[in-house]
Amino acid sequence: VKVGILGAGQLARMMILNSKHLGLDFVLFCAEITPVTANLAEHVVASFADYVALEKFCHAVDVVTFESENIESATLDFVLRHKNIYPPKEILLTAQDRLLEKQLFNSLNIATNNYMPIESYSDAVTAAEKFGLPLILKSRRLGYDGKNQYHIKTADQLAALQNVNLVNFIAESFVPFSYEVSIIGVRNAAGEIRCYDLCCNVHEAGILRSTKNIVDAELFAAAQTNLHKIMQHFNYVGVLAIEFFVQDGALLANEMAPRVHNSGHWTIEGARVSQFENHIRAIAALPLGDVSSIVRCEMQNCIGTMPERNAVLQRGGFYHNYQKEPLPGRKLGHVVYIL
Ligand code: AMP
Repeated sequence: VKVGILGAGQLARMMILNSKHLGLDFVLFCAEITPVTANLAEHVVASFADYVALEKFCHAVDVVTFESENIESATLDFVLRHKNIYPPKEILLTAQDRLLEKQLFNSLNIATNNYMPIESYSDAVTAAEKFGLPLILKSRRLGYDGKNQYHIKTADQLAALQNVNLVNFIAESFVPFSYEVSIIGVRNAAGEIRCYDLCCNVHEAGILRSTKNIVDAELFAAAQTNLHKIMQHFNYVGVLAIEFFVQDGALLANEMAPRVHNSGHWTIEGARVSQFENHIRAIAALPLGDVSSIVRCEMQNCIGTMPERNAVLQRGGFYHNYQKEPLPGRKLGHVVYIL
């Protein structure tokens, strides 16, 4: 089977590295070749609006998946004329827009915090009156890793936004959560669903810093129920992640990612079959692998700089360098320690 991936970042890299042994081939569609995936697969290098190149890519593969959420609907429609895309386009379009995403959660009876769409500063003032401070403003689209967000703690901070463009934003009440968790599951085309252990996540400045796989039967059951609802709603195929706040022992859904997820990187060492391999197995119509944890472990993201490799290895850690150009705030790799 030849698997096509739209995008060529670290998620594509780990999908390839963790499933190539199955005897699959990979073709990546990307704007430029970088060391992240350079020697791992064939590449079709072009813009996502280049339909001649997209057609060539489609002819070279049997099935298509994606690693980036920021793919235009028109690109997906074009690919769909030639090949299946998993996970389904509909969930990707929903996940691209925080308002649609929250509305979907609520329509499936999945609890979220309070939110309202806003278009202007005066809408933000209305939201502050309704929800109080702190208030969080997020752009509906293109706002991953805390980008395009304003965390407003004071009236002065709110007033400072008078001249800021708040078109297509949502306002959210601040959730004084105890901690954050995510659930990662995989579904195949026959409807079988398997879920990894719950991930307990620590974020700083909107970016995931570390994750542990934890045992909490009650929260796990609640998270699984929510994941099943979403997967069934979209007739999902592949890996899906949902992130939650835990407040007073209950889950509030924050966002979902219809792809392999950073909070699931621990599954390479910590589970029998990783999220990356299971995603590929699901989309390539292979039997799903065992999602059980083999150990308790902690994944730490390497942001901006990589730790010294030998020091990590000497501590018994697992070192993953994505071969990316170092930039402040950029995810360059991760390490996993067995607990
Ligand atoms: P997001 O971009 O929605 O994933 O937000 C990134 C991180 O910012 C979350 O994982 C939280 O740690 C924090 N955060 C986002 N929204 C809220 C909120 N409404 N209340 C409290 N913390 C939040």
